[in-house]
Amino acid sequence: KKKIAIMTSGGDSPGMNGVVRACVRMAIHMGCDAYCVYEGYEGLVQGGNLIRKMEWHDVRGWLSEGGTLIGTARCMAFYERPGRLTAAKNMILNGIDALIICGGDGSLTGADKFRAEWPSLIEELVTKGELKPEQVQRYKHLNIVGLVGSIDNDLSGTDATIGCYSALARICYAVDLIEATASSHSRAFVIEVMGRHCGWLALMAGVATGADFIFIPEKPSEDNWREEMCSIVRQHRDLGKRKTIVIIAEGALDKQGGKITPTMVKDLLADKDGLGLDTRITTLGHVQRGGTAVAYDRMLATLQGVEAVRAVLEATPETETCFIAITENKIIRKPLMEAVIDTQKVAKAIQRQDFDEAMALRDAEFSE
Ligand code: ADP
Repeated sequence: KKKIAIMTSGGDSPGMNGVVRACVRMAIHMGCDAYCVYEGYEGLVQGGNLIRKMEWHDVRGWLSEGGTLIGTARCMAFYERPGRLTAAKNMILNGIDALIICGGDGSLTGADKFRAEWPSLIEELVTKGELKPEQVQRYKHLNIVGLVGSIDNDLSGTDATIGCYSALARICYAVDLIEATASSHSRAFVIEVMGRHCGWLALMAGVATGADFIFIPEKPSEDNWREEMCSIVRQHRDLGKRKTIVIIAEGALDKQGGKITPTMVKDLLADKDGLGLDTRITTLGHVQRGGTAVAYDRMLATLQGVEAVRAVLEATPETETCFIAITENKIIRKPLMEAVIDTQKVAKAIQRQDFDEAMALRDAEFSE
């Protein structure tokens, strides 16, 4: 009987519990034993009761729970080979044949490194006498499949990450609430949303709430952004609009790569010699990550979880490590490292202020 383990890692996102539920139940359905690794890679490194066998009823009701009930953690030890060596030993001691990881690009990079190193980790464990050759016989190869859980929708190669539509819905709801006060008092609100290298949340929230102006990292504002924003806000006010909403991603930049902060935007809107608007800043923060998953994320979590179990069961030593994507509404397997590398390319392009490259990479994702 094969033993399949599932883990959530990196930042939590709505829908991760749906993933765990789907993987546990699909594994059992396929005649396997299902395990959960608690606390992300920390659970693999520490072992013990952080690796637990799960039954069908253990995940009952998890589809509608927010966050991740099996925990997630940043694990420094897993960045280093000795940490991964201990993780490999704990996997074998627990008899785990395959691992499904739901997390962001960091977690998936760690997963691929672990899989690539696996044969040498096993050899080292035997050489050091920590495991006997007969103990490792069955575990010559490690099957790994990734699922992308992130609110930022920042992974290349998939149209939506698990959690992004829940975060977007939460932002829209929060903006709707703020709009009541904005309209009543004729105020301006500068709303900061998450997204360090990815403006998807800010952009889509701006579209969905009819914001006056949006700042995102990939397409930094022109040198005249101050005049441009003020002129647009002025036009909207002249048309009779009583509220002003500006949405700014955490990682918003200007053309020189300088950070555009909510305070800078607020000071500009409030400037007595300009618009002179009564302006407030609202930082939505972790409210965006909390709460239950919207229907779309539950659907994605379930369908992708089922596909992930199929993929680990069908994988052979020759198959490339894959992650489960959704592309043009189809749940499909794609090479994991290609997507991670493409994702990192965007972040690096933004860091070196090559914004044309960053935009070209994002465009390529959508025209794939
Ligand atoms: P995310 O998965 O949301 O991008 P992180 O980048 O924090 O979040 O990654 C989560 C965990 O994955 C880290 O704490 C670490 O244990 C593991 N990890 C990330 N990157 C690597 C890497 N390059 N090598 C090994 N492990 C990694």
